[in-house]
Amino acid sequence: MKSFDYIRPTTIPEAVAAAAEPGSAYLAAGTNLLDLMKAGVSRPDRLVDVTRLPGLDGIKRLADGGVRIGALVRNADLAHDPYFARTYPFLAEALLSGASAQLRNAATVGGNLMQRTRCGYFYDLASACNRREPGAGCDARDGENRLHAVLGWSDACIAIHPSDFCVPLVALDAVVEIEGRSGRREIALEDLHRLPGDAPERETALEPGDLIVAVRLPGTAAAFFRHARYLKLRERTSYAFAVVSAAAAFDFQGDTIRQARLSLGGVGPRPWRAREAEAVLAGASPEEAAFRAAAEIALADARPSGDNAFKIELAKRIVVRALTAAAAGTPGRIPALPASPFSSVPGVHHHA
Ligand code: SF4
Repeated sequence: MKSFDYIRPTTIPEAVAAAAEPGSAYLAAGTNLLDLMKAGVSRPDRLVDVTRLPGLDGIKRLADGGVRIGALVRNADLAHDPYFARTYPFLAEALLSGASAQLRNAATVGGNLMQRTRCGYFYDLASACNRREPGAGCDARDGENRLHAVLGWSDACIAIHPSDFCVPLVALDAVVEIEGRSGRREIALEDLHRLPGDAPERETALEPGDLIVAVRLPGTAAAFFRHARYLKLRERTSYAFAVVSAAAAFDFQGDTIRQARLSLGGVGPRPWRAREAEAVLAGASPEEAAFRAAAEIALADARPSGDNAFKIELAKRIVVRALTAAAAGTPGRIPALPASPFSSVPGVHHHA
């Protein structure tokens, strides 16, 4: 066991200063980091425990109609917050489709954004992995790669980002508030996760010491609550990461789509916003032909990174299904199997 320092700062500037030192890592619930440390994949010299920092655990409604979610808000608390679930139903659906009940009770919003890939070779110290050890190679390229990326990958790394929550978040133009060595700044969630290029070890746009303090949704995000769904296809019904997933939302004017939002999970190294598909849907009627055209556009740049060509067709189908479900309307209650592709499209409203 590698020894490490553990510190528990009581102010944000103190935490940022401590975490800016080389070899430091932030610790919140630790639902991912502690596993990585036990496996020897992550070997920090210092853990900076942020769980006692003030002001990071609230859900606050904003004057512009948006919401600010503190980085330490637990996934389960957010999903079950009545205002949040009613206003952003597909975010609640995505949260409840992730991990297990026990993990959702512990895992935080900030940690959800910062979780690492679940590529099996990344976790296996006997395997070559550019993300874990720059320049080592990538054993996934010729290995078990059916669940790896079909969008945004590079020869250096074909891993995907595993979050469910980030998928509808990115569709709603979420903004990440960051406290760093030079003060407060914010970036679009869409820009938080980097594409691997030739430096997959640089996973995010964060600098040393940067602390995510909140995620904010703009007032415009509330326009979609009547027509928003997150569908997740996975290899078992719970406690599994997405093979592919899709978040779809509409704002209608009469029978016409005024605005559409669409993003995908399980397909690339970041939650994947499909802006060109959204543009095609705006002004269209909510019909299958339009949804199929949007799916083709959303996956137009997709290419297999290994034994995973099937994911491209699967992603198109989940996009069509998510758009169809969103057009039918947000269910009054989240289905008993949240985001299950086996729940009927209009939503048989099981009582959980
Ligand atoms: Fe590592 Fe990325 Fe290759 Fe997986 S796909 S082994 S994370 S470099």
